[in-house]
Amino acid sequence: MDQGNKPRLVRDEEVGLVFKTHLDLDRLEALSRDWLKAIGEDPKREGLLKTPKRVAKAWAFLTRGYRESLEEIINGALFEAEGSEMVVVKGIEFYSLCEHHLLPFFGQVHIGYIPDRKILGLSKFARVVDHFARRLQVQERLTTQIAEALWDILEPKGVGVVAEGVHLCMMMRGVEKQHARTLTSAMLGVFREDLKTREEFLSLLR
Ligand SMILES: [Zn+2]
Repeated sequence: MDQGNKPRLVRDEEVGLVFKTHLDLDRLEALSRDWLKAIGEDPKREGLLKTPKRVAKAWAFLTRGYRESLEEIINGALFEAEGSEMVVVKGIEFYSLCEHHLLPFFGQVHIGYIPDRKILGLSKFARVVDHFARRLQVQERLTTQIAEALWDILEPKGVGVVAEGVHLCMMMRGVEKQHARTLTSAMLGVFREDLKTREEFLSLLR
């Protein structure tokens, strides 16, 4: 790869993250100031003076999935293992942003897989979920991307991912359905092909 185009690691001390590529915090800050004006606010009033800077940092954090590498996240946590019993990791919290309204949706992800000689350190599942959640998303794609990433990383006999989320764009505006939860799932390998495996997984989630 051309050395000149190599992503440069940038540590932003205030955001506290290592970025693969540079994020234009200054531009985000300027845009936030314009945004405030566009909604009829006065960015110069006292309560809003530091808001653009805060917004820029918040958005750097909320979209950090774009700048992390999955290889670095997984690094060193893949182990060889005997056995092929189902592993289920339940109730991984996620926070994401709906790409249609730029409003949060959040909830829990449940993951199951049947290993084929490779297992992943349990803490890494949350990191994989975050990697895909911390960007603009729709819940269906978030679910599929987590399943496909684990499929590639673990080369398991099967993997299943179920996500339950509430969407502020539904709750705060439009239909204002306060209690509607969205359920999405992605099943690969034996989780897709074998009904008994899928049922075992889903029964463990109840
Ligand atoms: Zn939305």
